[in-house]
Amino acid sequence: MSERTLSTADHDRDSAGLRYVYPVISRRAGGVSVGINLNPNNACNWRCLYCQVPNLTLGSAPPVDMARLEQELRGFLHELVHGDFMASRVPEGMRRINDIALSGNGEPTSAAEFAEVIELVGRLKAEFGLAEQKLVLITNGSLIQRESVQRGLRLMAQHNGAVWFKLDRASEVGMLAINDTRTTLAKVREHLVTASALCPTWLQTCWFALDGAPPSGRDEDEYLDFLSGLLHAGTRLQGVLLYGLARPSLQPEAARLSALPVAELEAFAARVRDLGLVVRVSG
Ligand code: SF4
Repeated sequence: MSERTLSTADHDRDSAGLRYVYPVISRRAGGVSVGINLNPNNACNWRCLYCQVPNLTLGSAPPVDMARLEQELRGFLHELVHGDFMASRVPEGMRRINDIALSGNGEPTSAAEFAEVIELVGRLKAEFGLAEQKLVLITNGSLIQRESVQRGLRLMAQHNGAVWFKLDRASEVGMLAINDTRTTLAKVREHLVTASALCPTWLQTCWFALDGAPPSGRDEDEYLDFLSGLLHAGTRLQGVLLYGLARPSLQPEAARLSALPVAELEAFAARVRDLGLVVRVSG
């Protein structure tokens, strides 16, 4: 889900009174992000310790009401482009559409209609003259093997798409501890290689202290080794979005998590940059 704009965002998923579409006014990005939540049931196949989804449950997105999604997205884009939402709700200097982001209360690629959703968003981007705006998918990357997800990623690439692929730890022990998933590192590698071949792909990494202890030197080394292996094998990554804890977790483990000093995030970012990758740090 969206860790990205939450730290600086006026983030109110219900503020437009819609099921699927919500605005995020992001000071950091200096504009409005149009969010699409395909998981109104708060269901994800992972359970990250820092997840900000309330009442998170294990599962998939429910069937998407495509007609309703189209109506909501067209209506909201119309309001943004032609109505008074910008003038009445958005501070001066931020009255621009920054991107459209599939970033909901769960894993967006778990929606069976994922490719159809991307096709719809691409069509409406063109209809409203938003070709320049990014189409961002925020994903844990676990369902990339599905043909429909790959079809969606191919379509995204045609519409200025970017995948933000979650990688918090590069070990199976670490992913079990942080993301509560029993996925394998081999699978993550395979999914990442596939995603980046289909659409420009960033890694999104959340870096924080657990029970007072920052990620270990071993966590750092495993992460760097994993990225280095991918880069040597020719995988093209756009870079790394390195996050601290922007907002409190809404999971039972919340009290065990704490933010790291920005200097520590920056020190780790410097090691990642040494691999030749762009790293954007958000404390
Ligand atoms: S991948 Fe993790 S952070 Fe994202 S919705 Fe699922 S549990 Fe939450």
